[in-house]
Amino acid sequence: MTGLNSEIRLLPDTLVNQIAAGEVVERPAAALKELVENSLDAGARSIRVECAGGGRRLIAVSDDGRGMDADQLTLAVERHATSKLPDDDLVHIQTLGFRGEALPSIGAVARLTITSRAKGAENAWALSIEGGNKDEAQPAALPGGTRIEVRDLFFATPARLKFLKTARTEQTHAVEAVTRLAMANPAVGFTLSDGTRTVLRFAPAGGDLLGARLDRLSQVMGREFSENALMIEAEREGVRLTGHIGLPTLNRGNARHQYLFVNGRPVKDRLLAGAVRGAYRDFLAHDRHPLVALFLEIDPAWVDVNVHPAKTEVRFRDAGLVRGLIVGALKHALAGAGHRASTTVSDQALGAARPEGSGHFNYQTRPSVGGARGFGEAAAEFQAPLQGVGDVPSAMHEMAPVDAVDPEDVLANYPLGVARGQLHETYIVAQTADGIVIVDQHAAHERLVYERMKKALNEGGIARQGLLLPEVVELDETSARRLVERASELEKLGLVLEPFGEGAVVVRETPAMLGEVDAKGLVKDLADELAEMGEASGLEARLSDVASTWACHGSVRAGRRLRTDEMNALLREMEVTPHSGQCNHGRPTYVELKLKDIEKLFGRR
Ligand code: ADP
Ligand code: MG
Repeated sequence: MTGLNSEIRLLPDTLVNQIAAGEVVERPAAALKELVENSLDAGARSIRVECAGGGRRLIAVSDDGRGMDADQLTLAVERHATSKLPDDDLVHIQTLGFRGEALPSIGAVARLTITSRAKGAENAWALSIEGGNKDEAQPAALPGGTRIEVRDLFFATPARLKFLKTARTEQTHAVEAVTRLAMANPAVGFTLSDGTRTVLRFAPAGGDLLGARLDRLSQVMGREFSENALMIEAEREGVRLTGHIGLPTLNRGNARHQYLFVNGRPVKDRLLAGAVRGAYRDFLAHDRHPLVALFLEIDPAWVDVNVHPAKTEVRFRDAGLVRGLIVGALKHALAGAGHRASTTVSDQALGAARPEGSGHFNYQTRPSVGGARGFGEAAAEFQAPLQGVGDVPSAMHEMAPVDAVDPEDVLANYPLGVARGQLHETYIVAQTADGIVIVDQHAAHERLVYERMKKALNEGGIARQGLLLPEVVELDETSARRLVERASELEKLGLVLEPFGEGAVVVRETPAMLGEVDAKGLVKDLADELAEMGEASGLEARLSDVASTWACHGSVRAGRRLRTDEMNALLREMEVTPHSGQCNHGRPTYVELKLKDIEKLFGRR
């Protein structure tokens, strides 16, 4: 190693800036983010972005902010030069920038031109830096604001250039970066073009902040989100949380649609992401993710944004407070949603049912004969015996007689309707005031069991019922030992068992809420579940898994015929149980089809 004994020296500025650029501008999207943040800090109302070739060829940001005069311009590209820490106060940071690193860093690794005209100035000034070589500021033409162009990003640092992904991937990151800033600033208009066409266009939204924000959110996250979102507004000890969160049934395979902001700054924070996961834990399988946009407002002194040069991580002085606020507010909102499942569920169902793209169906609407179809007419057809079907499913015999309940009364008061029948020993079909509801009886029951268990645990324990004849269950030795080790935990959850020689247990009591239950199957499945869980986690923490196991052996499991009164009881319980619109894994427990949608299916509309 030749460098070992050489003298220590201060590195030249350009090299220092290139080193800083390694962190500040990790990729084109990061450079773009810095420039747009500068525009926002300069009070811009309208920001125009161009990003060509994934940002490698050209990034240009034009704004109508306060601009810079020649002296400010010359200083702006110096390292650690900033207008944003007027009192040298790192504690009360109000702006997005504060490190004075972005412009010199970009100038050190690319060809940068800044043209700017200060408010009220005679003319504009322009200044260029290429790979760290700075020119003098020159008079230039620009009606107002600032325009910054970055060409050939990383041309001066070939090593970094090699790590760039395809133009398309880099472009996606760039669009994402602008989108996040646009979400936090609904009053500001944004456009983004890729050199040939406009990819993003957000008009400035007027009105109050929350309304304007929802407008912007629905542009970014889709109408599906705004229609299935719950509003969040909570405050604890001066920390304010607002935003919108999606119903659990609207979920995705990754967490990309979780947008978190702290004092208007988009952040990717593990603590915040963890709090969101915690709030939804009861409603979603671990590999499904909700859609959320959350905005945290906190005294700048209580949060440190100076964690990383990219400023996308934060540290909270009281992390517990913030976590508690988020988990509490989200859980509260989700509980308020009751049995609501997202409209996307029925949209998907309809999508699947429609003969879309099929050449066999000539799908056209015809005018409905005799005006609007009455509800009674539709209902009568629904109850008509199936014609020309050889094998009528056995459950059809269980169709509820129409007069078993007072339909008027039920339809007016019960959103999930009156049970009309059970199909395939799995689905309950109910008639509502303006449509039908199909319930997955097993998924629904699983959810109800879980909610009952949670409630019972809060209120002191889960009721048990003794077996007339204690049941001996033969297992392998490890499984039996695992069960016995957890006996006291299981007792709280409604199951009483004891060791019975080697590799067997005897079951004495089972959870009362399950009714008559196959104790052997229950215990065997539980043993499998425990094997998967590992030693560490407590059963109460894994309540949804236990509930799933319990429900699999309860009386409403899939494949069991239900009487009409059992079906209606299930519907009524769903209506009053929080979170009953989705099962423990975030799948819907029921689908509702409105008559107007069904009519569409048949081309009646
Ligand atoms: P920081 O944003 O941390 O201050 P930057 O290197 O990003 O550091 O910018 C340096 C300075 O240049 C800013 O403090 C600001 O005064 C000025 N500046 C940068 N971009 C703009 C802009 N679009 N409009 C007005 N002033 C700007
Ligand atoms: Mg900046």
